Amino acid sequence: MSTENLPERLSPATVAVAAGRPDRVKGGPVNPAVVLSSTYVSTREPGGELLYARYDTETWHPLEETIGALEGSALPALVFSSGMAAIDAALRLAAPGTAVVAPRHAYLATLTAAREQAQREGSEVRLVDIADTDAVVAALRPADGAAASVLWIESPTNPMLEVADVPALAAAAREAGALTVVDNTFATPLGQRPLGQGADVVVHSVTKFLAGHSDVLLGAAVTDDAGLRRRLHARRTTGGAIAGPWESWLALRGLRTLALRVERSQASALELARRLERHPLVAGVSHPGLPSHPQHERATALMNGYGSILTLRPVGGAAAADALTEAVRLWVPATSLGGVESSLERRRRLAAEAPTVPEDLLRLSVGIEDVEDLWADLDRALRLAQQG
Ligand SMILES: *Cc1c(COP(=O)(O)O)cnc(C)c1O
Repeated sequence: MSTENLPERLSPATVAVAAGRPDRVKGGPVNPAVVLSSTYVSTREPGGELLYARYDTETWHPLEETIGALEGSALPALVFSSGMAAIDAALRLAAPGTAVVAPRHAYLATLTAAREQAQREGSEVRLVDIADTDAVVAALRPADGAAASVLWIESPTNPMLEVADVPALAAAAREAGALTVVDNTFATPLGQRPLGQGADVVVHSVTKFLAGHSDVLLGAAVTDDAGLRRRLHARRTTGGAIAGPWESWLALRGLRTLALRVERSQASALELARRLERHPLVAGVSHPGLPSHPQHERATALMNGYGSILTLRPVGGAAAADALTEAVRLWVPATSLGGVESSLERRRRLAAEAPTVPEDLLRLSVGIEDVEDLWADLDRALRLAQQG
């Protein structure tokens, strides 16, 4: 790979295109090869060569270099078979008998994995309002209860879009002796780079914006710390939750257009949020880019753009929200997010969703379609939803 030969200080939009390319050779390919081999030729004591494809395989490297560079790390990322596989490896950085401090609104499987691990290890999961910096700091150093060993951050959170003060929280966690892990799936590395704000590890569901086409499941963990990277790598090797070569290649192909996709979908999300806020059939809208969002100023200070997710509560409650998901023709009613296609979901249809998430809340993931088409479809569906 030729990342060393690239000019210094490239913008992330350029990194997404230029990193992870094969060395420039006359007549050579511009894209990396997919290597389908479970094992490698080797004799005697191994000396740094590739050995076996669960340990390491060259088809991961271009994607790992590119995601690492996008997050501003000097070390390549580690790719995993899914976002949850990367999250599971990162959660295992918590020490047994300690606490993981986590957002009360977060990706549901992350909270389940944290709770299951805590049960196995005699630890606890302490849920906090991640936007309330004082409350998080208090949870990191409790008067009674286990000391925290990991602070887990999502920002903006799923699905409530609370925005955390990542630099302040990471500093407080460090002081309390806890590692900070940020799930950067919603913001993407174009929206925020938590390692530069003091976080120790960043995890991604590459499935979402990074790959961007709803055709591949993949995850990644990134850290600047060689010791932490060794621990995450060891967990991947032993747990075996490795990425397939085709999936890795597809994800890199999707990642090349990250900046274009995110710029378009962020701009459309903000425009739709503004219009929905004035819509007579909308009871509530949340998006960090709206001045009415409780952490709007924090998001403006800490993020580059406000992300492509917004939430909407239609007049008429959960029944109207369900009717809306059946009335849309362009928006795809589905879980997941971050694809080129816009999608929406009433979150409380899932029994495991937090009871503090309103019953009628729809989470919208804005894609790259023409914003006027998206608006027309939503406006029509809002009106139809009132008729039952
Ligand atoms: C989807 C998602 C995950 C899980 O990723 P998978 O690739 O589905 O395993 C984790 N965190 C967030 C914020 C997500 O949106």
